[in-house]
Amino acid sequence: MKNQLEFDVIIIGSGVGGSTFADYLTNEHKNLKIAILESGPHRSKENFNNNEITSTALYYNSGAVLSKNLQIGVAAANTLGGGSAVYTGVSFRPPKSVLNVWRDDFGLDFLTNDYVSKSLDAIEADLSVHELPSDWDNQNNQLFQAGAERLSIPVKRLKINTKNCQQLSSCNFGCQSGAKQGALEVQIPRLLKRGVQFFCNTEVISVAENTVNVIVKEAPQNTIKNNIDNGNYQFKSKKIIIAAGVLNTPVILLKSAKALRLKNKNIGRYITLHPVFNINGVFSKNISNNTGFPKTVYTDYFSDSDGFFLETSFYSLGITAKNNPGYGELHQEVMKDYKKMMSILILAHDKAEFKNSISINKKGERILNYTLSNQSKKSLVKALQESAKLFFAAGCEKTFLPASKKAPLLKRDVNEIDTLISEKYLNLNKTPISSAHPQGGSRMGVDASNSVCDIYGKVHGTKSIYVCDASLFPTSVKVNPYETIMLLAKWVAENMFK
Ligand SMILES: Cc1cc2nc3c(=O)[nH]c(=O)nc-3n(C[C@H](O)[C@H](O)[C@H](O)COP(=O)(O)OP(=O)(O)OC[C@H]3O[C@@H](n4cnc5c(N)ncnc54)[C@H](O)[C@@H]3O)c2cc1C
Repeated sequence: MKNQLEFDVIIIGSGVGGSTFADYLTNEHKNLKIAILESGPHRSKENFNNNEITSTALYYNSGAVLSKNLQIGVAAANTLGGGSAVYTGVSFRPPKSVLNVWRDDFGLDFLTNDYVSKSLDAIEADLSVHELPSDWDNQNNQLFQAGAERLSIPVKRLKINTKNCQQLSSCNFGCQSGAKQGALEVQIPRLLKRGVQFFCNTEVISVAENTVNVIVKEAPQNTIKNNIDNGNYQFKSKKIIIAAGVLNTPVILLKSAKALRLKNKNIGRYITLHPVFNINGVFSKNISNNTGFPKTVYTDYFSDSDGFFLETSFYSLGITAKNNPGYGELHQEVMKDYKKMMSILILAHDKAEFKNSISINKKGERILNYTLSNQSKKSLVKALQESAKLFFAAGCEKTFLPASKKAPLLKRDVNEIDTLISEKYLNLNKTPISSAHPQGGSRMGVDASNSVCDIYGKVHGTKSIYVCDASLFPTSVKVNPYETIMLLAKWVAENMFK
């Protein structure tokens, strides 16, 4: 007989979805016995060190879970607080056009303008979401604005969820100052006060009705120890909420399909990734991009016409090296200019397609199946062309870009950019495409023929199993997703015991 513990509610995963769900649930229902099971270690701001190499431990696969065809690497956190421990804190509301599709095609009628705006007003107030003043713009952000202005591209200011930010530019390595208002600073301290039990280094393997099968592992060095012994456990619970993120929630469901008698073909399907190029232009002199806040401005000018956003970004040495194209001497030449680089993050809106999926092999290992669609390739190439023009309009002297006939492209090439950068030069196996915004896989909807969960987050055909994370998204939300995940988590929590 395995070790057994009993709860009213078990939440699998302490990231954006899991922590938000638990926060709203415990605010309403004071007497529930609740556990959060987190496969990552218990780290907090004291464990973060702004060291790019050691911080890879905060992520699955050191920061890149690769698709089977090796075209794209997905960054996802495996630590207490999940993605909120490493996200940049860029805060967007879901676009109305996306919510219209979710209502009209998937029956998410609860997402009325009134519910969405009231809920997000409260969430943003709780997380101190605000626009950063322009005196926080570093030179990278200023150059982006100057280049866009010369090209008559309208620029908007980003909103960020920080309090007393110390401008360490370490958001993606864990916020050492605790300024970022993710789960580690906002929800988890509240949940501990309310008596929620946390089990870290606790990996859920599968679930059945009212049952969770887990392995508790040794805590890594310099992280807080577990409060139960290592080993296999079977936890019992009236309700089970899977909030393990897009890369993992479908895996748990697929491994549990037999026990739950699930035959739904949509499990793990319709994954979208928001494919990203993080690219650099080389300026004539050193520029600051690690002061102020890494990213303060963006443009959505090309969103409706060409399917992408451009955001400013700061990326550290290793990540910049990974993202720049070329090998050997060419790559060395590129990286010599690291201190002169301005950077742009291209985020393409990808369509939800059945064939893009999370599946498992015979050993139960996760496989990410993702192929860039022709439409995404077009968006990315157009985004590279427009970014190259922006780099040169900002005063950059050269840029090394994927999908380019020439390396580097020089200022004098500016009038030929649309022919020098082309899909015919896009070699996906030599191109550093990444993702930090996986979505879908356990879509929410009224109709089980195109979804996995009902509109209350309950997995169709089950009695006690719910999902509450970005895997609920029926389609890509097209913007940085954390506010939308919180919105859905709030809804699922509010309705669980009605
Ligand atoms: C570098 C980076 C920067 C980002 N910046 C932004 C940004 O600025 N703005 C924005 O909106 N979004 C941003 N994001 C995306 C955002 O962080 C994610 O969309 C969000 O965290 C997803 O929430 P989630 O609840 O779906 O999953 P997560 O937050 O990933 O939480 C899932 C949790 O489940 C745990 N888990 C997984 N499997 C198991 C298991 N079997 N058993 C137990 N626990 C398990 C994981 O360890 C993790 O803690 C960023 C992401 C990254 C990686």
